This record gives sequence, structure tokens and C-alpha cells, in this order.
Amino acid sequence: MPLLSDPPPWNAEAPGEAPQAVGQSVLGNAINLYGAREGNLLLMGGIHGDESESIFLAHLLLASGCKVPLLPCANPDGALLRQRWNRNNVDLNRNLPSKDWKPEPLNPRYPPGPAPASEPETRAFLAALERVKPSTVISLHSFKKSFVEIERPPQALPTRINDAVREFVDAADIERKLSIGYPTPGALGSYGLENGLLILTYELRRGSSHGELQELVAPLMKLLDELEAQRFDPQDIPAE
Ligand SMILES: [Zn+2]
Repeated sequence: MPLLSDPPPWNAEAPGEAPQAVGQSVLGNAINLYGAREGNLLLMGGIHGDESESIFLAHLLLASGCKVPLLPCANPDGALLRQRWNRNNVDLNRNLPSKDWKPEPLNPRYPPGPAPASEPETRAFLAALERVKPSTVISLHSFKKSFVEIERPPQALPTRINDAVREFVDAADIERKLSIGYPTPGALGSYGLENGLLILTYELRRGSSHGELQELVAPLMKLLDELEAQRFDPQDIPAE
């Protein structure tokens, strides 16, 4: 298995087809999309640069032959600078063009940028969405406690998706949450609700070892297969 940190993960050569750059960071680093093709699922790591567990897991998936369209490192400058934000000190997960985007940060830790999609990394992610046209996006993060957040209740999702998520959270011994408990304007969750996308925010445990991340690969690949096999459509769910 190649060393994941040498060369830098966002430029590492993964087995299979070469990645396509969907954009560049503020510092000119390529933002690479692996498995670039239309599909039901898009996977993203490293939108917060200091959450390196998410970048490493994305590369472990690639090294394991994952073919799902994947942006392993959505914020390469943040990864280089070991910071949550991009080089302009914008929280990219508050910079999406959702209707609830606000210019004032709700918390100094979450600066939303001067305008929606003002940042080149946000536009690169939107270009990846345009290229893949997914119905489901999984965004990998890390936090002191691991969990999966889906801002749609189980009754708003098809049984097959709920079952696949349940199987995964059981295997990883984590919780499924409906909300992280505070508003997140301009975040991917809001953007997904507005645009009919199913968004899974997967918080890995901060400080997970490569061995612990490797153990997640098999159950996660199973979840990816299920989510990729069917197109999520919010209209499909009958209103109660
Ligand atoms: Zn994060």
C-alpha cells in the first residue's frame, strides 16, 4: 500500500483512472475528482483542512479500489496550513450558495466568506456536483465523537437507504443524528435540503489511527454500494 502522506494525499496516484481537476485552491493547488463520471453518489473528504482523518480515509477507499466519484481533499490549502478554513480564512462549509447564507458568522469559528460561493474551493465542489450529478453526497469530517448526521428524518427516506445506514452505524458503533444542534447557514446540509440532495455528514473520530480508519473501509464500501445503487428523490416519499 502506498504511503498516504508522501506525496501529499491530494496529488497521490491512486490505482485506476487518473483524477480530473475540477478547480484550484486559492494557492493554486489542484482539487481532484477521482472516478469522474455521472452517478448517484459523490463522496468528499477534507472540506475542513484540519480534519485529516477524512482525507486519509478517502485515500484508503481509493487504495481499496473504490470507484465512487470522490474528492479526497476538497480544501488542499487548509490541509497544508493545518487549518479548518481555506487560505482566505473562510469556512467552506458555510460558503455554499444556499438561501440561508448570511454574511455575519454565527460564531467566529465559522466565517462564511464575503458572498455565497465566493471561494474557488466552493466553486470546485459545485463543478464536481455538475459533473457527477449525484442525488446523494457524503461529506467526511472529524470531531471528538464520531456520528453520522442526516438532516432528513428516517420517515423521509426509502427503507433501503435507512437499512443501509443502520447497518453502517451499527458496524461503526456510532449514532445517526438528525441535527448537530445549532444552525449552519451556508453549509452543505442546507444546500442539500434546498436542492433535493441527500446529504450524509460523517464525522470520524478525531485522532483515529490509520488502522482504525482501515477497519471502516469494508462497511463503508458496502454503504456506498447501496447509496450508489439507487437514486434518491425526495418526491418519491409519500407525505404522511
Ligand atoms: Zn468538519
